[in-house]
Parts: sequence; C-alpha cells; structure tokens
Amino acid sequence: MNSTPLIELRQVGKRYGSAQAVRDVNLQIDRGEFVAIMGPSGCGKTTTLRMLAGLEVPSEGEILLDGRRINELPAWQRNTPLVWQSLALFPFLNVVENVEFGLKMRGVSSSERRRKSQDWIERLGLSSYATRNVADLSGGQRQRVALARSLITEPPVLLLDEPLSALDAHLSLKMQGELKRLQRELGIAFIYVTHNHSEAFAMADRVVIMGDGQIQQIDAPLQVFNRPASRFVAEFLGGNNIFSTRVVACQDGKVVIRSSEGDFHAMLPPQINVHLGDKLDMVVRADRISLTPQSGWATNEVACSFVSEEFVGSVINGYLETGDGNRIVIQLQAKDLESIDLEVGRKFYASWHPEDCHLMQHLSTSKETVHH
Ligand code: ADP
Ligand code: MG
Repeated sequence: MNSTPLIELRQVGKRYGSAQAVRDVNLQIDRGEFVAIMGPSGCGKTTTLRMLAGLEVPSEGEILLDGRRINELPAWQRNTPLVWQSLALFPFLNVVENVEFGLKMRGVSSSERRRKSQDWIERLGLSSYATRNVADLSGGQRQRVALARSLITEPPVLLLDEPLSALDAHLSLKMQGELKRLQRELGIAFIYVTHNHSEAFAMADRVVIMGDGQIQQIDAPLQVFNRPASRFVAEFLGGNNIFSTRVVACQDGKVVIRSSEGDFHAMLPPQINVHLGDKLDMVVRADRISLTPQSGWATNEVACSFVSEEFVGSVINGYLETGDGNRIVIQLQAKDLESIDLEVGRKFYASWHPEDCHLMQHLSTSKETVHH
C-alpha cells in the first residue's frame, strides 16, 4: 500500500501583483479519487487547477505529486493534463492526429502512437470520426477528442475546468455519466472544477467549496448538502433558509435559540459547545419546511405571506416573506399544489421540526461591527 497521497497542496497561495487569488489551500487527493471543486466565479478555482497543471507557479506553499515537490515543474514534464471548456484542439489536424499529439511530443514511435490512439478513439466512441477534421465535429465530439488526447499519456490524474459548460443541458447530463464511468474504469483521480451543484454532487467522492480564494469546506457531497460548514457554504448551495440566532436555553443536547422571527427549538450537534448568549446560524433546507394555513403544525414556525413561485423541473420553489421582511424559500412537489392555494399575499405558517435545523457556529465577518 502506498500511503502517500497522490497530490498534496500545503498552504498554497497565488498572488497576481497585490491581489491574492488563492490563499492557504491545504488539500490531499488520493489515487482514484473524484474531487469536485466548486465556488462562485472568481474564487480561485481555475488558478488552483492551473497550479496543479503546471501552468502557474504558486507564490506560497508547496504542491507535491507522489510526495515530490513539483511547484516549478513545467506542464509537459508532470503528466497532469488539463481539459477545459474552450479546448485547445489543433483545428488543422484530424481526430487521430490530435489524439496522438502528446505521444508524438514524447517521442513515442509512430506504430505505438497509432495503436494507442486507436484504442482511445474507440474507448471514447470516436471510431467513425477518426480521420475527420476536428473543426467539423460537434461540441460533444470535440470534448471527447480532448479527453482522448489528455488520457493517452496515461496520467495519474485528469484536471477538468468546467468541461461541460459549453454543452446543452441534455448533452451535459449524458457526458456526466460517461465521465464518471470513464473515471471508474481508468481508476485515476479526477479533479473537476464546476459551478454546477448537481454536476459536482452527482459525480464526486468529495466536494471542495472555495470562496474568496480559500477552502471553505471539504466533505462528501451528502455531508456538504446536509451539514454546510458555514453561512457562506449554505448560501452558495442555495435552497437554504438561514437565520441568525442567539442561544437562550440549552439542556440535554437541545437548545432554544432566539431570532428576529421568534424562538426556535433545535438539536445541538455533538461538535458544537454552546453557552447562553452564543451566536449561532441556523439552516433549514427548503425541502424541510411545511406550509400550512393554520398554526401549530410543527414545533418551529414563522408566519409569512406568499410572494411568488418558480417551477424547477418537477419541484416548485415557493417564496414567502415574514412580518420582519425576511425571505423564506420552500420546496413543494407539483401534487402539493392540489391541496394548497398559493395566492400572492395569502397568509401561511412555514413550519419545521427541531431535527431539521442545522446549527453552525456563527463566524463573524469583517462587515460586522463587534460590540464589547
Ligand atoms: P474562478 O476560476 O474561480 O472563477 P480564477 O481562479 O479564474 O477564479 O480567478 C481568481 C482571481 O484571480 C480572480 O479575482 C481573477 O480576476 C484573478 N486572476 C486570475 N488570473 C489572473 C491573472 N493572470 N492575472 C491577474 N489576476 C488574475
Ligand atoms: Mg474558472
């Protein structure tokens, strides 16, 4: 057993002039692992991937591949290919020539090149296009050529920067399945940057959420979804109701917390130690909230009035406003609409159970004034 991680980033940072694009990134990636990196635009995802690819040199910290420091190792010497949306295929070369390019650069004999490129072309379902010019391929086909071209050098890791963002929704979904299957078959690591939550959650073993150049959370997809580490992550994921609260009572793993919307009951997660008066952020997922015309449905409730609805596939997002002007988002199934009349301005109670509250330590932000 090799216990050295395949890739390790230690305190990695990248500055452009005085701007810090990436800071304090610590991350280990194992062989065969599928890691998705997510975060809002400009948070440093591409920069991180480019440092792994050897296209940028870190300003701080260390990047190790198989335990070896590779900070300054050029891209062509490290076999960590990067596939991105506007793929740099050679437009004047055909599919075979594009796919075998990496082997040619490495001085591999032409017979060996043909054999390997044919193998990869077949694997990626490109056999009928082998001699076609890449300019005459569809977006999905070009994406496959780019994958074949990157994989032919048998890298231990493939870096992907929003590779499907230029494809339409249907094709993107199909490619997601193919990429995941390919990754499993090859048993190599994929580091996959995306801003698309469903893409990341569907494919990844672990998800890294970045914000403001830093890692905000690293966890299994379900863990990130159920237990966001901070308000930032909960907001980024969307579909969450987040309340700022203070602890007013605490006993036997249960707490009563006070918000501007009233008092709520919640379960205290074992890792959080609280005292009376402590600030906690409470997250309740949109799909955990019930909507009823009468009060008294569940322990926690807020009176609110209906504002708008939005159909998202088979579910409906409902938006309501509390007396205090806070927005509540709920998720309904189409069949729920048969029993509930969503008229704008109508009064409802949004309610949820204590077990559905996820509590997070409140991290003060620089925007807040601290009173002593
Ligand atoms: P993301 O991929 O998450 O959208 P990037 O890694 O591309 O974010 O960018 C992170 C930050 O670094 C952004 O503020 C961006 O403007 C800045 N940045 C990226 N590349 C350069 C560069 N070559 N020169 C100067 N600033 C850059
Ligand atoms: Mg980017």
